[in-house]
Amino acid sequence: MVLMVRISDISRYLRCPRLIYFERGQFAPELVSPSHILLRHMLLSWQAGSDPSDMEEAILRLIQDLLLIYPQISQADLLVAADEVRHLLPDLILLPAERLVPSELEVELRSERLGLTGRLDRMVVRQRQAAMPRPNLLSSLLDRAGLLVSPPSQDATASGRDEGSDERTAQADQPLVTPSLIRTGKAPKSGVWRRDRLSLAGYSLLLQEKYGQPVVEGQVEYARSCQIRQVAIRGLDKGRFLRLCDRVRQIRRGSLPDRPANAPCSACPCRDACHSRASLASRFF
Ligand code: SF4
Repeated sequence: MVLMVRISDISRYLRCPRLIYFERGQFAPELVSPSHILLRHMLLSWQAGSDPSDMEEAILRLIQDLLLIYPQISQADLLVAADEVRHLLPDLILLPAERLVPSELEVELRSERLGLTGRLDRMVVRQRQAAMPRPNLLSSLLDRAGLLVSPPSQDATASGRDEGSDERTAQADQPLVTPSLIRTGKAPKSGVWRRDRLSLAGYSLLLQEKYGQPVVEGQVEYARSCQIRQVAIRGLDKGRFLRLCDRVRQIRRGSLPDRPANAPCSACPCRDACHSRASLASRFF
């Protein structure tokens, strides 16, 4: 039976592959800050046509809800977090509604065939235009508008598992499904972070299997930058994503990877266990 991998495992693997080895149920999950939680829920409850005073009220309501959902977080901490994020409200209400609604939130996805599961923050579902622009035209339009963050797929055959051209098989009468990630950090200077691009590739595989239609683009909602960045989903990224899933499975079966040179060890909950273990490779050198 294929070992199931969660899409969030890939982000963790990219931070440090050893985390996958040491977090096999032995360590408490990473603590998440109140401002991260508040920002995430603000975007989940985003509504078109709000004004800053609506949002202010919404924050206060949200704080009451979050106290019930996360009893480990105090009201004082959430009020401090609210002060921290309040200045973002005027820009958050200007996010383009057509990129956020209509949508389903926190969509659970699972594929036994791919050995993959994940909870997608937002799935935007829109009707396609009668005539979809061809990929090159779409790319150039997005590019001109400064929205294109990845080049169109030129190497869709790289994975060996996903060699079809998604764009070619898109049906004009099917709804357009767009996976959207909520990130509470800052956006990069341009495009999206690598881990986000790969996560979108993973969600596109799950959505493609669930809805039986290609998923040609995704997006990332960078809350602290008040920006939504679109990205074309490339076969190359799907191939890379699937190979990373195989690496995660290998580690779960007991293979301890080497410690990366730039690993973020100082705040790592696995530090003691990790520093007392040598990898198989390092024992030989
Ligand atoms: S201590 Fe450093 S090398 Fe070890 S798992 Fe944590 S981040 Fe990775």
